Amino acid sequence: MMLHMDAVTQRAGATTPAGDTYPVGLRLAGRRVVVVGGGHVAQRRVPQLIAAGADVQVVSPVIRPALEGMAGAGELTWHERGFEESDLDQAWYVVAATDDPAVNERVSAAAEERRVFCVRADDGRRATAWTPAVGRHAGVTVAVLGQREPRRSAALRDEILEGLREGRLVAHEHVDATPGVVLVGGGPGDPDLIPVAGRKALMEADVVVADRLAPRELLGELRPDVELVDVAKLPRGRSALQEEINRVIVDRALAGKRVVRFKGGDSFVFGRGYEEVIACREAGVPVTVVPGVTSSIAVPAVAGIPVTHRGVAHEFTVVSGHLPPGHEGSMVRWDALAQTTGTLVLLMAVENAPAIAAALVDGGRDARTPVAVVAEGTMPGERTVLATLGTLADRIADHQVRPPAVIVVGAVVAVAHPAHFS
Ligand code: SAH
Repeated sequence: MMLHMDAVTQRAGATTPAGDTYPVGLRLAGRRVVVVGGGHVAQRRVPQLIAAGADVQVVSPVIRPALEGMAGAGELTWHERGFEESDLDQAWYVVAATDDPAVNERVSAAAEERRVFCVRADDGRRATAWTPAVGRHAGVTVAVLGQREPRRSAALRDEILEGLREGRLVAHEHVDATPGVVLVGGGPGDPDLIPVAGRKALMEADVVVADRLAPRELLGELRPDVELVDVAKLPRGRSALQEEINRVIVDRALAGKRVVRFKGGDSFVFGRGYEEVIACREAGVPVTVVPGVTSSIAVPAVAGIPVTHRGVAHEFTVVSGHLPPGHEGSMVRWDALAQTTGTLVLLMAVENAPAIAAALVDGGRDARTPVAVVAEGTMPGERTVLATLGTLADRIADHQVRPPAVIVVGAVVAVAHPAHFS
């Protein structure tokens, strides 16, 4: 894809030596490309030349450490001196990127003489080639050439790439329509926190089976012909809900549909995602996974609380609090967790928080251990309630905290809120 902005304006500028341009994709593999200069322009251009397989020769008495690193790694050849006309012998392409216009002018002249195209960092009008703003997505190269307005070209390039990544711009033959199930972790709630691959999967879906905690705003972007199955409304009659979900995704995939199972956070963090993977495998349905941003890390992060901090917490444990301590079905050793020194991140724990806090104190954690309860994280209603293990039950009652909430236990909470815990 090659966009040309302002063809008319360019023609108006035809009095300049540059005139109109003719877009082209150079295949530089193994060909000598000379970059004169070793500053920030060279640093930006050289990696793309290397990626194209060019035989890159950098000519400059000094170069930036990043370029020096590439020289050390054998990715380019560095000539540690000033420019000489003969540097351009055998060259296919030249970049004049010094901060001295006189040197760049000499490079231009030598290039012209040898009929080698030459980019100028200082003055595009005196160049014989312009570098477009470039990006790649799924096998397509997007190159935008502006009328020497690099910011505008870059902004347009970014918009096009974003459109491609989010699926708003679709090259239709590239849509993956093979039947099967994709488990998409939708992130903690803010629609911006879904992975690019997840968004793409949503755009390609024939059927979307959505959880209550998935970022529902994104469902508004689905095509009208997409079947939306709301898990909260599935009949729970004789079979359990999870079995019903498994049945729906498998049936639709076997009927030739592309199914997205759309969940909150990450599908494999208390998301029962693997049960769905097993159900698909047993039915012979192809299943893939797009990992999500889990609320256990992202909700504290967005609320300003790190789950680890050097010298404070060198481990964090994500624990389900959906069963109270001592419950016969519980697999959590609260007494053992009480003995750890790291951060505890509790999910599905609002209801059982008083019992959990008591169990942790009984097990040996200090009742003054800082606690943060972050409800509706990353969403408009987000709020944080601060407490200690000793006061957690009261604070949750006082503030009428309701799920969904992430409860963070440990000294990292005091790192984030030093005034409150001093
Ligand atoms: N798979 C999800 C977790 C599912 S369990 C993930 O990786 O994030 C559901 C629990 O996640 C909720 O009870 C709550 O503890 C937590 N949770 C999910 N989204 C949340 C949000 N936006 N704010 C606070 N807690 C959230």
